[in-house]
Amino acid sequence: MSVAIIGAGVSGVLTCFHLQRLKPGIKIYLIESNASQVGKGLAYSTNDETHLLNVPAGKMSAFPEDPAHFLNWLVKNNYFFSEDSFVPRKIYGNYMMSILDYLRPFITLINDEAVDLTKKEEQIKIHLASGENIYCNKVLLALGNFSPSPVGGISSQIKFHTGYHSDPWKETVFNNLEPTENIFIIGSGLTMVDMVMTLSKLNHLGKILAVSTHGFLPQAHEKTIPYTDFYADLKNCNSVNSLTIKMHRHIARAARKGINWRAVVDAIRPHTQVLWLHLSMSERKEFMDKIRHIWGVARHRIPAESYTILNNIIEKGQMELKAGRVVQITQQKNKLLVDYKLRVNQKTEHFLADRIINCTGPESDYGKVSMTLVQQLLRNKIIQCDPLRLGINAAPDGRVVNEHNIPSDKIYTIGPCMKGILWECTAVPEIRDQSLAIAQKLAE
Ligand SMILES: Cc1cc2nc3c(=O)[nH]c(=O)nc-3n(C[C@H](O)[C@H](O)[C@H](O)COP(=O)(O)OP(=O)(O)OC[C@H]3O[C@@H](n4cnc5c(N)ncnc54)[C@H](O)[C@@H]3O)c2cc1C
Repeated sequence: MSVAIIGAGVSGVLTCFHLQRLKPGIKIYLIESNASQVGKGLAYSTNDETHLLNVPAGKMSAFPEDPAHFLNWLVKNNYFFSEDSFVPRKIYGNYMMSILDYLRPFITLINDEAVDLTKKEEQIKIHLASGENIYCNKVLLALGNFSPSPVGGISSQIKFHTGYHSDPWKETVFNNLEPTENIFIIGSGLTMVDMVMTLSKLNHLGKILAVSTHGFLPQAHEKTIPYTDFYADLKNCNSVNSLTIKMHRHIARAARKGINWRAVVDAIRPHTQVLWLHLSMSERKEFMDKIRHIWGVARHRIPAESYTILNNIIEKGQMELKAGRVVQITQQKNKLLVDYKLRVNQKTEHFLADRIINCTGPESDYGKVSMTLVQQLLRNKIIQCDPLRLGINAAPDGRVVNEHNIPSDKIYTIGPCMKGILWECTAVPEIRDQSLAIAQKLAE
């Protein structure tokens, strides 16, 4: 019996860990294309210490049955953080590496890119970019987060301009940065915050303009009294409207008791997947159209220290945040002129940038992901996009479904690949539960 796990980020490594423990002696291949991301994946391979976890350390244990595992690892490794601290993601990457190091004697770690899968009777052949092949009985697609797609209105000439950075997670994003450069950021979410944290560390002096569809600034975490679990009041809601009304009611009730809205949002997190599964497809679409951005701001909060830095830069007038959309980018000598339309009045404004960074977030529509494996799997109908085009179509337990909606007993997926199916499944607190459940299926 052999299993191949494609992707060695948190999802791949934790599934590997559980599988090895559940079925000692099983042959496990762990395949990772990016040498600098082995064991860490995209989020935790940053080398910048200002890029912090957005979940407090006390909630970032890799193992749900041992909630203090990460805190104990920090102490053992002479890092001094409390359970409420927001630890640099780089350190979390080292924590994940320690788990991978433990696994190394039991698994075959392959640094190569999986480019295709073919099924033959009971076996699956994994084609690697090097030309080698691997044969196994089951596969887990733990492909994680992909780079953002290019934004509209950008010609191929601009896409290849040295000042245009389509991938904010590349090490080269701030190469040759001059202190007075004017920087245009497309997007205003957590990746924008990472970029501004780096610029602040570098004592950057130039102007920063961030433009996003709604122009919302991420909210800061705040310590607050927990709110009571009110799932019982939501569990029969089958529309976004009824959920929204009840959420507002609970936020008002919490406020009367002196409890912050954040605690209300946090109280439903353990139930978000079930609430999502309870909604019809048209209600999920309604959520995507009308609520997603507000929910994103309320749910994906940043550490208070990052918020303070961001706010100071805005207050001193160095940075502005606007709601709008990029219409066109043109080259002006060695600079880039960005035309963007304001949401409020549809007027076009301009910004002359030395550097543009695309922070629109990971691309989750697999139809737009250029990776060979993804394109091959779609072409060969081994995977399908989910109806919301947020990832791979799968059963809620991770079994990938075919075009007739029949779940496979051999090909599974996990984590961010399942956003369209479970919605709340992209972060460590959910991935650690999911990895155990999927390892149980892979071990069968
Ligand atoms: C910038 C950022 C910050 C985040 N911060 C937090 C946080 O603070 N707390 C939190 O809980 N969550 C955070 N998240 C959410 C994050 O999705 C999860 O925490 C987790 O890292 C996802 O892990 P993963 O293994 O599923 O995906 P990834 O980390 O993306 O790993 C997938 C791996 O698969 C590899 N791969 C893909 N295709 C192939 C192929 N064909 N062949 C071989 N290898 C392949 C990739 O190279 C990659 O290394 C963050 C996400 C991002 C993008």
